[in-house]
Amino acid sequence: MKKNSVMTGASPSAEPIVRIRGLRKSFGSHVVLNGIDFDVLPSQVVVVIGPSGSGKSTFLRCCNGLEQPEGGTVEICGRTLVQDGRMLPDHDLNALREEVGMVFQSFNLFPHLSVLDNVTLGPRKLRGLSRKEAEERAQALLTKVGLAHKALAMPASLSGGQKQRVAIARALAMEPRVMLFDEPTSALDPELVGEVLQVMKLLASEGMTMMVVTHEMDFAREVGDVVVVMDGGGIIESGQPATIFTNPTQERTRSFLQAVL
Ligand code: ADP
Ligand code: MG
Repeated sequence: MKKNSVMTGASPSAEPIVRIRGLRKSFGSHVVLNGIDFDVLPSQVVVVIGPSGSGKSTFLRCCNGLEQPEGGTVEICGRTLVQDGRMLPDHDLNALREEVGMVFQSFNLFPHLSVLDNVTLGPRKLRGLSRKEAEERAQALLTKVGLAHKALAMPASLSGGQKQRVAIARALAMEPRVMLFDEPTSALDPELVGEVLQVMKLLASEGMTMMVVTHEMDFAREVGDVVVVMDGGGIIESGQPATIFTNPTQERTRSFLQAVL
């Protein structure tokens, strides 16, 4: 089932949950983002594709304050994260990060904590939940990602696909309003990719707002509401998956798709 979105009937007047204007970021003299404008509507799944080095990760990292842009505006969940290249003060930045979950290529679980403790840590420390409340929430999320039976396991004993599903449960435990995924399946053996994409599909069907950098083109086609193509630090085109995959307007999109499909 498709969720609410521009393409599937959300009110066209829905306020964007992410609003980006003129976003610029350089590392030294290397311009990595050259002035990006983009909106994400509530419950949309935006899939970001493009060649390596095109700025996809930097774009995502600018959306939760992991990178400081030098220009432009980023508004997310009703807060202004960056205005004219100036970042929110630390205190507000932390509050915002609680609303924006992020899942990386390299799971980043705490290796010395059990699966359950990985998932309960944030809600206990940052949201003030009691251990009991946090564990109830964690158990429900571990059930959702198919890992209820691994609550007491240590991360080292899990497969890559299981680790990534724990990382997703951990992010969800903070009850984020937006989830960012940066190549969540790129580090996985091919046979483990499907179980992670399945969980992401479930989240999408529940209406989670998601920005997903991935090379999984079938996922982009099936689950994406909008596909954004980046190249050379900018968005070269964006649109519905069917359009981007079958009838792209840019030659650079065509050659990228030819290389990956
Ligand atoms: P992608 O995710 O599309 O592969 P990135 O956003 O990781 O692209 O990187 C875009 C460009 O910015 C690349 O040329 C990369 O080398 C450069 N870059 C990314 N992070 C840094 C950094 N911390 N310091 C210097 N250059 C960086
Ligand atoms: Mg990247």
